[in-house]
This record gives sequence, structure tokens and C-alpha cells, in this order.
Amino acid sequence: MSDYRLQRDRLVRELERKKGIRDRRVLEAMRRVPRHRFVQEHLLTQAYSDFALPIGADQTISQPFVVARMTEYLELDEEHSVLEIGTGSGYQTAILALLARVVYSIERVPSLAQEAIARMRELGLNNVKIHVFDGTVGLSQFAPYDRILVTAGSPQAPPLLLDQLAPRGRMVIPEGDRQSQRLVVYVRDAEGRLERREGEAVTFVPLIGRGGWSDD
Ligand code: SAH
Repeated sequence: MSDYRLQRDRLVRELERKKGIRDRRVLEAMRRVPRHRFVQEHLLTQAYSDFALPIGADQTISQPFVVARMTEYLELDEEHSVLEIGTGSGYQTAILALLARVVYSIERVPSLAQEAIARMRELGLNNVKIHVFDGTVGLSQFAPYDRILVTAGSPQAPPLLLDQLAPRGRMVIPEGDRQSQRLVVYVRDAEGRLERREGEAVTFVPLIGRGGWSDD
């Protein structure tokens, strides 16, 4: 078995036993996606530590625990269509792709999107479509979505994203100020009413755009 495989199994055991990730499907997806393929070469030795790491363009690949927790909150199944805002490295995108039918992911930095597209191709994840633009306006073309995940910190849930959430849909987003946020889960019921629940404190790079922070 490769050294990376062993390191990955160890990380997933840590997420399960010490950090309270319970969802078997999420743990299995984390066991399958090779995180070392999503980090820069000089950081390869840290690929399976439970930390966020820089990926260039002032952005980061999210901490594995946070990826696992957000994915748990989504309660995905294989029929779902998912909208993700903030592709970044594409690591979270790959986890979503293993658990859902189709993933539309939006990234505002073209170079990051291009790298992520190449990784999806190399890993054979054909159910992912990556687009470059301000994701705070959503992607009305394929709406509504069963699940929406925002992987950058926002002052509030962008209204256009909530509009694109299907009945019985769930959206997970880090809400707060520019430095620190809290995971928030929105659940839309069958009649269209929204419920809001708060989860862990987290630290994300800012969501920049019309429905997020200004670019300064
Ligand atoms: N889940 C990613 C996290 C990347 S960090 C990973 O694990 O690699 C968040 C990403 O959101 C950054 O790449 C940033 O460029 C992107 N982003 C910020 N504002 C955005 C917006 N309005 N639309 C699309 N992407 C955005």
C-alpha cells in the first residue's frame, strides 16, 4: 500500500475517532480522494495533516475536518444536484462528486478553476462542471439545486443562492465577519419555508462578489 494511502487512512481514522465525524459515506469518500493531488509540491508532506494549506492566489485548500463536517451537514444522496461556490483546489468538489449525481462548482479565480478542471479530468470525475464567475449570484440555468455549499466566508447568505435552493433542499455556508465565521445550515421544507441552524466556528477566506464582501 502506498505511503499516501496509509497517511490518508490515518487522517480519516482521526476524523472519525477524535473529531466526531460519523457519516460512513463521508468517511469513505475522504478515504478515496487523494488530497496530495490537490496541494502544491512543496507542501506534499503536509497533505494529510488536518490543516488548511495555501494553494496560490491568496486562497487555501480547506481543513479536512471542515470539509468532512460541511459534507455531513449537507446529507447528500446519489440523486442530488449540487451547486458549490468556491472551487479552490477542487478537493471539496471531488468529495461532493463521489456522493451526488452532478456538481456545478463556481470559482472566481481563473487559474484555480483551470487547475481544478485538470484534476477532475485526471481523477475521472465526469459529473463535475466548473465555471468561472462571481458565484454569489448562483447559476440560474440549472436551478433549483438539492444542495448548495459555499466554501468561502460571507457576511450573510446571498439571497440569490437561497432562491436557487429546492424544496427539501439544504445549504451550508460559513457566515460571519472577514476573520472568523460560523457554519450555518439552511433547510428548506416541502412548503418552501426556511429554517436556520448554527454549527461550528470556522475560518475561511472571504467570499468576494455582489452578494459577499467587496474586493479591497
Ligand atoms: N473548498 C475549497 C476552498 C477554497 S477557498 C478547497 O478546499 O480547495 C475559497 C475559494 O472561494 C477561493 O478559491 C476563492 O477564490 C473562491 N471565491 C471567493 N469568492 C468567490 C465568488 N464570489 N465566487 C466564486 N468563487 C469565489
